[in-house]
Amino acid sequence: MNIILMGLPGAGKGTQAAEIVKQFPIPHISTGDMFRKAIKDQTELGKIAESYTDRGELVPDEVTVGIVKERISEDDAKKGFLLDGFPRTIEQAEALKDIMQELDRDIDAVINIEVPEEELMNRLTGRRICEICGTTYHLVFNPPKVDGICDLDGGKLYQREDDNPETVANRLNVNVKQSKPILEFYEKEGILKNIDGAKDINEVSEDVINILNNLD
Ligand SMILES: [Zn+2]
Repeated sequence: MNIILMGLPGAGKGTQAAEIVKQFPIPHISTGDMFRKAIKDQTELGKIAESYTDRGELVPDEVTVGIVKERISEDDAKKGFLLDGFPRTIEQAEALKDIMQELDRDIDAVINIEVPEEELMNRLTGRRICEICGTTYHLVFNPPKVDGICDLDGGKLYQREDDNPETVANRLNVNVKQSKPILEFYEKEGILKNIDGAKDINEVSEDVINILNNLD
C-alpha cells in the first residue's frame, strides 16, 4: 500500500500518520527524516543535499527525488510506505510518478486531511507557554485554570513569535498555494481522498483507516 499524506499545518497529519503506521505494516517516510538520515549516513546524495543546506539553499528537485527513490526502494518500504512532506511541487509529483513506473508500483491513495483555515488559525495561534517552567497550554484544547497564569507555578503565559496570527496566516497561505496544484494533480489521477479533519480526532482516524481498508 503506497500512500501520500497531505494536510496544512495544524491539520493533524502527525497524529494520523502515527495511527496509520500502527494499523498497517508500512514505514512513515517524512522528507525531514529522510534528509537527516541521508546526510548522517553520508550517502552520495546525502552529501550533495548537505552542500546545499550548509549554504542555506534549497536542495534541487533532482536530489530530493533521488533521495526519495532510494528510500522507497529499501526493504522495509517494498510492501508499501506512507509518504509525508513529499511531493511539494508539481515537478516532484511528476518525478514520483516516473519513479513509481520504473519500480513497477503505483500510488494507491493521496489522503488529504481538510480543515477550514479559520479552524487552523484557532488551533495554531492558541498555544501559550509558561515563562517560568515552559509548560505548554492551549487556549482551547488545554487551557490553564486561571487565564494567562501557569497552573503549576503561577508564571505568566506568553505566546511564541511563530504562533502569532500574522505569522501563522502567512505560513498557511504559503502552504495553501503550494499544495493546491499538487492536490489538483492527484485529483486528475483519480486517487485523491479528502478527509474531513475538523471532526473529533478519533473520528478522523476512523475515516482514514476505513478508506485505506477499502482501497482496491
Ligand atoms: Zn509554569
